[in-house]
Amino acid sequence: MSNFYLNRRALLGLALTSALPVGSVWAAGQPLPVVASFSILQDLTRQVGGELVSVSALVGPDGDAHVFEPTPQQARQLQQAKVLVSNGLDFEGWLPRLKKAAGFKGQEIVASQGIAVRALPKGHDHGHDHGADKAGHDLDHDHDHGHGHNHGPNDPHAWQDVKNAIVYVRNIAKGLATADPANAAQYDKQATQYIARLTALDASLRQRFAAVPAARRTVVSTHDAFGYFAQAYGLRFVPVRGLSTESEPSARDMAALVKQVREARIGAIFLENISDPRLLEQLSRETGAAIGGRLYSDALSPATGPAATYIDMVETNATTLLKALQPG
Ligand SMILES: [Zn+2]
Repeated sequence: MSNFYLNRRALLGLALTSALPVGSVWAAGQPLPVVASFSILQDLTRQVGGELVSVSALVGPDGDAHVFEPTPQQARQLQQAKVLVSNGLDFEGWLPRLKKAAGFKGQEIVASQGIAVRALPKGHDHGHDHGADKAGHDLDHDHDHGHGHNHGPNDPHAWQDVKNAIVYVRNIAKGLATADPANAAQYDKQATQYIARLTALDASLRQRFAAVPAARRTVVSTHDAFGYFAQAYGLRFVPVRGLSTESEPSARDMAALVKQVREARIGAIFLENISDPRLLEQLSRETGAAIGGRLYSDALSPATGPAATYIDMVETNATTLLKALQPG
């Protein structure tokens, strides 16, 4: 599987480019050059910045930020950017090294700053007995490796709660205004308009999920990315052991998953756009739990897909979940 860190070729590319004049290619009247770490932040920044910004994403649509290798071209892009928008909460484990290699000296916006951070569930806290010590140990190890290990103790997927996305947008507006003070009023205005749409979306989600009967609120998905969503909208996403975006479970892991899904009486299993669907398809076959559809966790869809913007992503996820969870 891919290397978690900046590879040798990328570093070589940087060594070559760092001999070039570092430079401010941004001239007044030109869009502010911004780099966002992944597609969701790219959209939020575009919503706030509009035509005043030109935003590229390091990890694009359907991309998995957990196993990302920056290219030399992306390092150069960051070198020339005036603003970097990151999630923080150790989501982008590769970013500190990339920033250093690129010699990034612009304004950094850590979008999650100020949100109420959710702790990741620990590998040992699942409350399911997996029998043999060895099996249990291996499953825990895989779980930690997939998320906990890369992410640290905090759940980074804070954007899945729309109220947190509003905090992200405020942070982004503030950071853009600092980097480009001449347009501060416009950033503020565009952020306010966008926040009004997010506020309406959040209210609509609360109302629609409140109507789901309590007994039908438990679902499974590939990696534990919906903790904030579950907390905000009253669902229960079972943290499935042994599944991550990086590793494939063994037959033994799979047997434990089948047991877990049966015991928890899970009504529907959801695929994610960044993960291999085959595992959950197998799990569905073996447990009889229906595949409820595809959820967008850590990345938007391409422009032609159903989740090309943050708002479309949340709407699409909500519609997919509600369709599977409503009785009859
Ligand atoms: Zn994730």
